Amino acid sequence: MRNATNLSLDGRVALVTGATRGIGAAISDRLAANGACVIGTATRAEGAEAIGARLADAAAPGAGYQLDVADPASVEALFKQIKSDIGLPSIVVNNAAVTHDDLAMRMSEEDWSSVIEANLSGVYRVSKAALRGLMKAENGRIVNISSVVGQTGNAGQINYSAAKAGLLGLTRSLAREVGSRAVTVNAVAPGFIDTDMTQALDAATRERMLDQIPLDRLGAADEVADAVSFLASPAAGYITGETLSVNGGLDMGG
Ligand code: NAP
Repeated sequence: MRNATNLSLDGRVALVTGATRGIGAAISDRLAANGACVIGTATRAEGAEAIGARLADAAAPGAGYQLDVADPASVEALFKQIKSDIGLPSIVVNNAAVTHDDLAMRMSEEDWSSVIEANLSGVYRVSKAALRGLMKAENGRIVNISSVVGQTGNAGQINYSAAKAGLLGLTRSLAREVGSRAVTVNAVAPGFIDTDMTQALDAATRERMLDQIPLDRLGAADEVADAVSFLASPAAGYITGETLSVNGGLDMGG
């Protein structure tokens, strides 16, 4: 008889960027519940405090820190701080992201570059800063949160979908670079998940979305967290460079 699936994250330190709310908060809760010490980040000091309080309420080890992934100095300062406070992470979940939607004809330089900076360059920065620690750790893990719109495209989101598609290329290339050091790099591509980001959509857009989802509902942040915690676990040790879609069947493109 074989053992049960090993989903335990006992003894692991997990960094989750953008852990204040929505999917990031669900991911940090799930990783903590599975045994990890979670370092969750927020853009503001109050957000970082709230993450710390949330972990403490659940009697989970870990802490909140301030981070702006669009600022190289902020990424550098975070890694310096966590190295001395807690230790470098062996699991990194690149979740932080922003949207500045507009049709291509009307998109400003600022809307384009701020989304690429946070959603794509931010992942490059955080992953690069984490690499040495990940390679030293046994079975390092990076999980990048992409999006179904990086796979299918979406009118009004050329900046966001370009960043999310770019993330898939980054994921596969980095997976090839670090595979020999037992570090896996995967992506999770959520569909439409019930968070602040989708609550900002107008009613007509939401209705159109629902019409295209075979499971006929928005996803829950917890359902994305389940996919992330699986990829972060020992059970996913032979999966790398992969994109796991969590989209209710919205896109089955493979
Ligand atoms: P959300 O509710 O808007 O939360 C975004 C998080 O990112 C917040 O914690 C925010 O921190 C943080 N953040 C924003 N800018 C940052 C920066 N420059 N540096 C560091 N952190 C920053 O988003 P969500 O809906 O949970 O989405 C989470 C991830 O899933 C994102 O990568 C998103 O693209 C992806 N996704 C979401 C959906 C969906 O339907 N919701 C679908 C597909 C993919 P503060 O609270 O401090 O601002």
